[in-house]
Amino acid sequence: MSSPYPKMLAPLDLGFTTLKNRVLMGSMHTGLEERGDWDRVAAYYAERAQGGAGLIVTGGMAPSKEGGVFPGAAGLFTDADIANHRKVTSAVHDNGGKIAMQILHAGRYAYGPECVSASAIKSPISPFPPRELDEAGIEKQINDFVVAATRAREAGYDGVEVMGSEGYFLNQFLCLHTNKRTDRWGGSYENRMRLPVEVVRRVREAVGPDFIIIYRISLLDLVPNGQTFDEILQLATAIEAAGATIFNTGIGWHEARVPTIATSVPRAGFAWVTRKLMGHVGIPVITSNRINNPDTAEQVLAEGCADMISMARPFLADPAFVQKAAEGRAAEIAPCIGCNQACLDHTFSGKISSCLVNPRACFETELNYSPATTPKKIAVVGAGPAGLMTALVADERGHKVTLFEKDATLGGQLNLARVIPGKEEFHGLVHWFETMVGHSGIDVKLNTEATAEALEGFDEVIVATGVVPRDPGIPGQDGPNVLSYIDVLRNKAPVGKRVAVIGAGGIGFDVSEYVTHQGESSTLNIDAWRREWGVGDPSDVPGGLLTPEAPAAARDVTLLQRKAEKPGKRLGKTTGWIHRASLAARGVKMIGGVTYDRITPEGIELGSDKGPQMLAVDTIVMCAGQVPMRDLADALEGAGVSVHVIGGADVAAELDAKRAIDQGARLAATL
Ligand code: NAP
Ligand code: SF4
Repeated sequence: MSSPYPKMLAPLDLGFTTLKNRVLMGSMHTGLEERGDWDRVAAYYAERAQGGAGLIVTGGMAPSKEGGVFPGAAGLFTDADIANHRKVTSAVHDNGGKIAMQILHAGRYAYGPECVSASAIKSPISPFPPRELDEAGIEKQINDFVVAATRAREAGYDGVEVMGSEGYFLNQFLCLHTNKRTDRWGGSYENRMRLPVEVVRRVREAVGPDFIIIYRISLLDLVPNGQTFDEILQLATAIEAAGATIFNTGIGWHEARVPTIATSVPRAGFAWVTRKLMGHVGIPVITSNRINNPDTAEQVLAEGCADMISMARPFLADPAFVQKAAEGRAAEIAPCIGCNQACLDHTFSGKISSCLVNPRACFETELNYSPATTPKKIAVVGAGPAGLMTALVADERGHKVTLFEKDATLGGQLNLARVIPGKEEFHGLVHWFETMVGHSGIDVKLNTEATAEALEGFDEVIVATGVVPRDPGIPGQDGPNVLSYIDVLRNKAPVGKRVAVIGAGGIGFDVSEYVTHQGESSTLNIDAWRREWGVGDPSDVPGGLLTPEAPAAARDVTLLQRKAEKPGKRLGKTTGWIHRASLAARGVKMIGGVTYDRITPEGIELGSDKGPQMLAVDTIVMCAGQVPMRDLADALEGAGVSVHVIGGADVAAELDAKRAIDQGARLAATL
């Protein structure tokens, strides 16, 4: 049978070694290394090697204490560290994989008082001003990279990735934005690129010719005074000559106000910039960012944008990505939806990374779906994310599962999310659930409201009936000008030109996005998306930074909340700012600290410390949170039936698909 993805699955000959395919698992911080549980780290990477990744890159390892992203960040500092890392490399090799260690020096992004950089300029994302390095200090940092690379080789790694992008230490020397030096490390571009080139040259000298050196090159800085494309080409030529084996693409400094990996970024939205490097260097080039399925990967390679694809989060969502693609089972690949909710949001909260779609990610040693000793008859009521995940895991374990759903479709609240412009990836998640349920032995009963009688005779009953909108009890809310988010998103009720949205939680933001959009979602149109966020070509403008063009808004929206804090403050840690910026660009007014006194045909009367105010609007949309749908659970419990209540039916507050899926998977693993 011919390969379904001939380009993606083609081997890549690096001369001294060959990668089995064109898929790199990109670097991600897991949080496991710092906890010292190296067997768990090894199990995590081993599963990804077994799943067929051509080359794995580890999470960033600090070359020195001052270069660590935070105090205590993992590195390769001692012989004991080398022994720990050997567990990882052996596990990967035993499973047929190859692995490179990323050397990450954070420079002024290091969240600690010891941080160092080219110049003493504080970054906007860290409270610590860096110390400007002197000549001896720079020599120490170079040597630290070299020592880290030689230790990596000793620990059994197949190579290293030198992190030169995303605004980290080496990138800080490259750009006038952060490098104000007047010595041989600053000023002209030749001087500014001296450090990364010297690092690669000295690392190559130390590790010998048969060791992979990936250089992560910033092709688009997206900050003021960023690099021009001519400068980037000059750097690339010098880095190649210094001994790099492969270029990997880096997009956007962490302080950039442009989303680079969030779900609303178009798929393969930055492959065009990697393509600009193709043909200018003699070593393979990898592209990256928002490539989450084999079809997009194959297309990017077929269009000549790169020699290889880097995917990071997709390997959290599904370790067997490559294997499933190769076996013609692409539809079974659990999709990374770019939400950041369980990966980056966890990283930035000091929690272990995982995945909304795959709660086993980074929990491989403790959450396993092993065959049930005694197969049971299990009823699951509700086919939202909690019920679906419970049903799938229980089925996988050998139980006989019946899934009841009162609607005509699977997916529950995911079906509301998928209609929001910028959240198109939720279609893929619903499709994946449909595929997996279709391939399972689950008996699906759609359009069926489960009754206590229908649930008799089951060994276990799981109630995942979800949520209903909270009634905010505002006088006048029964008027024809008031809609719920379900009326708007599911029933497509007509919405007037002037809109007040009551409640600025996740759903209030989603509804505001939905009603202000017109025409095609920019997530499906790379050029429109680039205009909206001000992403230019580094050949035309340094760093590729343009002034964003505000999209025309379909409606005049005011988003309201009672709390006096900034609306949207509780949205995702790494994505909340994107939602706020997107609505601000559409002219949405966000007002906190109000009371809802009365709804009239003219609009809504608000109270605040500034006194009463009449907000004249045509439509008021209620997004005032949700409460558990517990009717069935209460009836069953009242009749003495033992049930498991999960998802929103259990706790509606702060419910999201992450908690629902996680709770469902963990329950089903124990039944
Ligand atoms: P939510 O995030 O809890 O927000 C509810 C909003 O309603 C808040 O702004 C709250 O603010 C307001 N509210 C609460 N009680 C009210 C009352 N009695 N009268 C008037 N307003 C009231 O809930 P949600 O927006 O329904 O979202 C549900 C869940 O879905 C969220 O927890 C979220 O995790 C998830 N979700 C996430 C995303 C995402 O982008 N990640 C998107 C959509 C949904 P005040 O009390 O200050 O008025
Ligand atoms: Fe992707 Fe979301 Fe999973 Fe992170 S949590 S890997 S963004 S699906």
